[in-house]
Amino acid sequence: MSEWTFPKGDLMKGKKGLVMGVANDRSIAWGIAQQLAAQGAEIAFTYQGEALERRVRPLVESIGMSKMIPADVSNDADMDSAFERLASEFGSIDFLVHAIAFAGKEELQGSFVGNTTREGFRRAMDISVFSFVDAARRASALMTDGGAMVTLTYLGAERVVPSYNVMGVAKAGLEAATRYAARDLGPRGIRVNAISAGPMRTLAMAGIRGGKQLMSTGRDWSLLKEDTSMEGVAGCALYLLSPLGRSITGEVVHVDAGFHVVGVPDMQEP
Ligand code: NAP
Repeated sequence: MSEWTFPKGDLMKGKKGLVMGVANDRSIAWGIAQQLAAQGAEIAFTYQGEALERRVRPLVESIGMSKMIPADVSNDADMDSAFERLASEFGSIDFLVHAIAFAGKEELQGSFVGNTTREGFRRAMDISVFSFVDAARRASALMTDGGAMVTLTYLGAERVVPSYNVMGVAKAGLEAATRYAARDLGPRGIRVNAISAGPMRTLAMAGIRGGKQLMSTGRDWSLLKEDTSMEGVAGCALYLLSPLGRSITGEVVHVDAGFHVVGVPDMQEP
């Protein structure tokens, strides 16, 4: 089990919401869920497939929750029934966490131009970008008294990162989708933001060729000279999803130990 600790309190007391994207106890969605639960939130989870249910259920139960709904985000029928179930179990909701992305292994290495196929591009966009637009539409219908949404992105949307390739293009789309959703939903008091997390050791990261080097460069070039922490990412999600984040929408907040502001890494003394 993970060794993270999250501050307890009442910031999310009385708030109900959905967390999408827990695959195991290293998932960013799991860190965020633990932080939200520690602040009193009631959470339902979507998961993909039976094998994942066996892995995720003990985690969900360990924080006193039980609502788990199967959903492959690339399947409309799954999404229809997931949100029907969410509506019947919760009625209205206050927050959504979207921490889902996918690209084929063959696309996450080597040449972007050479390795990106039409099908690979379509799949990456569908699962990593459209799924957020779709979930935002469905979740907002249940946010009858305002609400807040957070999705997860990465610096590869703004800068060129080796191997990130089609996922960088998808994350650029996701960040734009965050702003457009924030525009649509703002008048209803629904805030929509993205967290740009630095490299973290998760299943998704394991699929990227050279992921280890992304981690070490992320640490060594960062201003804080440390890895991005789950506590930092989850704390930012809490801030954006709770009343602390009031007036913040359409934003991409970097939680990466300051890596994104570095132009040239530290130089050796001559
Ligand atoms: P993770 O634990 O592997 O989470 C990714 C989740 O996406 C998994 O639960 C995965 O389920 C789910 N998913 C993929 N395809 C799906 C589909 N068709 N339907 C439903 N769920 C699907 O990795 P993570 O690092 O926490 O990733 C969460 C988010 O953070 C992603 O958007 C990722 O791009 C972003 N992010 C990660 C980092 C990092 O360094 N780790 C940095 C910045 C941003 P399956 O396992 O069943 O496929």
